[in-house]
Amino acid sequence: MGLLSVEVPFPLVVLLLCITASLVAGLMLTTERAAALGSHPGPAEGAVRARRSRPAPHPPPTPHGKHPAGGTLVDGQYTHRKVSTLSIQPIRIFGDPVLRTAAEEVDTYDKELRGLVKDLLDTMRDEGGAGLAAPQLGVSKRVFAFDVDDVIGHIVNPVLEFPDEEEQDGPEGCLSLPGLYFDTIRRQNVVAKGFNEYGDPLQIVGTGLMARCLQHETDHLDGIIFIDRLDSDRRKAALAEIQSQDWYNEDVKVKVTPHDSKGVFFKR
Ligand SMILES: [Zn+2]
Repeated sequence: MGLLSVEVPFPLVVLLLCITASLVAGLMLTTERAAALGSHPGPAEGAVRARRSRPAPHPPPTPHGKHPAGGTLVDGQYTHRKVSTLSIQPIRIFGDPVLRTAAEEVDTYDKELRGLVKDLLDTMRDEGGAGLAAPQLGVSKRVFAFDVDDVIGHIVNPVLEFPDEEEQDGPEGCLSLPGLYFDTIRRQNVVAKGFNEYGDPLQIVGTGLMARCLQHETDHLDGIIFIDRLDSDRRKAALAEIQSQDWYNEDVKVKVTPHDSKGVFFKR
């Protein structure tokens, strides 16, 4: 076979030359732009400014801040970059209406649910809590996570059963009421029946602290906060203490709880 010879019609040659010229011009423009960005304090700031100058390319977020396609919200824009392996979310504080709303049953065991479970687990562990329910992250779904005596897990659509009448009385706290603990009477033994994030049935047999946690978190799914379980004298004292807290008198209800509750969600 001899030399490859292809006859190119003249108009096509002109077209190819035009495309080549455009590419060279584009490359030069990109180089100039990069040089200009170099004058900013750092390349990261330049990148953020460039992102913000464009309109949002994606639909609005789902209720707990995840993009339906799995992206992550960064600086008001969605990105598919892996920003962090942790997924820590702000916790809703007493006074937020979502904490007084009965949560909906979960009927779809999908990627979004698994994202919610990860948010709950990561945020609970970051705060050092023994439990965290979805409404505390502003998501009105019947799901909560728990971490009691190194037993860590989650449950979807829990239903409680009480095998006996035995009770316990002791201090109880809540990440949505930061820094406050009130003696609360609970049942000593409880069985929680529900599902995991894939829809497989599961059952948690709880006694003592775990039983307290299961009751506290299931209450959250019904819009009940633990001070509702106090008798009238204890509740009156608790409300006075709540009203004296700085966070109670602030207008902003969505915020990260202070870290002074770390590790002592339920005192022992
Ligand atoms: Zn709570």
